[in-house]
Amino acid sequence: MDLVDRLNDVRTRIAKASAAAGRAMSAVDLVAVSKTFDADAIRPALAAGQRVFGENRVQEAERKWPALRQETSGIELHLIGPLQSNKAADAVALFEVIETVDREKIARALAAEMARQGRALRLYVQVNTGLEPQKAGITPGDTVAFVAFCRKDLALPIEGLMCIPPADENPGPHFALLAKLAATCGLGRLSMGMSGDYETAIAFGATSVRVGSAIFGTR
Ligand SMILES: *Cc1c(COP(=O)(O)O)cnc(C)c1O
Repeated sequence: MDLVDRLNDVRTRIAKASAAAGRAMSAVDLVAVSKTFDADAIRPALAAGQRVFGENRVQEAERKWPALRQETSGIELHLIGPLQSNKAADAVALFEVIETVDREKIARALAAEMARQGRALRLYVQVNTGLEPQKAGITPGDTVAFVAFCRKDLALPIEGLMCIPPADENPGPHFALLAKLAATCGLGRLSMGMSGDYETAIAFGATSVRVGSAIFGTR
C-alpha cells in the first residue's frame, strides 16, 4: 500500500465508524499527523486532497510548511505538541489551530499574540485524562475552571478539548471522560483518537481524529 491507499483506507474507516455511531460522515475531521515526515512525503497527501495536518513541534513545522503552502492553498495546520510561551508568537503566526492549551501562562501568551498579530486561531484545551506525570495537559479536575478562565477572562476562542490517553490502557474511559468534561463546559468539539484507536474515539464522540503512522508509515 502506498500513502494514498493508506489515506483512503483511513477515510473509509472513519466513514464506517461514523455511520456505526449514527453520526454523519462529515461530523469527523481527519487531522493527518505529518510530524517527522519531510515535504516530499507530505506532497502525495496534499495531491490526494488532504488539507488538515498536525505537527507537534513549532520549529519543525516552520521548516516544512511555508513552502508547501506556496504550492497548495487551503492548508489548515494544527499544533498538537506542547507549546512553550517563548514560541507563542511563532505558533500564532504559523498554525490555524492550537490543540495544546493547558496552563494559564500559555493561555495568556496566546491571547496577547493573537491580539498583536490580529490572527483568530481556533483553540483546544488539552486534558491529561490519565494524570500521567510526564504528559502535558490540565487535570480533569481543573478543566472546567480553566476553560471558563480562558473564555471569560481572556476571551479566547476555545472550541473543544483534546486528550492523549495512556498508551497502555483501554482508551474508552478516557474518551468518555473527555466527552463528559466537554459537555459540562458546553464545548462541542473533541480531538481524540490516533492510529491505534481512532475508530473507538469516533464511537465516543470524537469530532476530529489525529492519525499519523496509519497514513505516513512508522516513524
Ligand atoms: C504523534 C501524535 C499523533 C499521531 O499518532 P499515530 O499513532 O502515529 O497516529 C496524534 N496525536 C498526538 C498528540 C501526537 O503527538
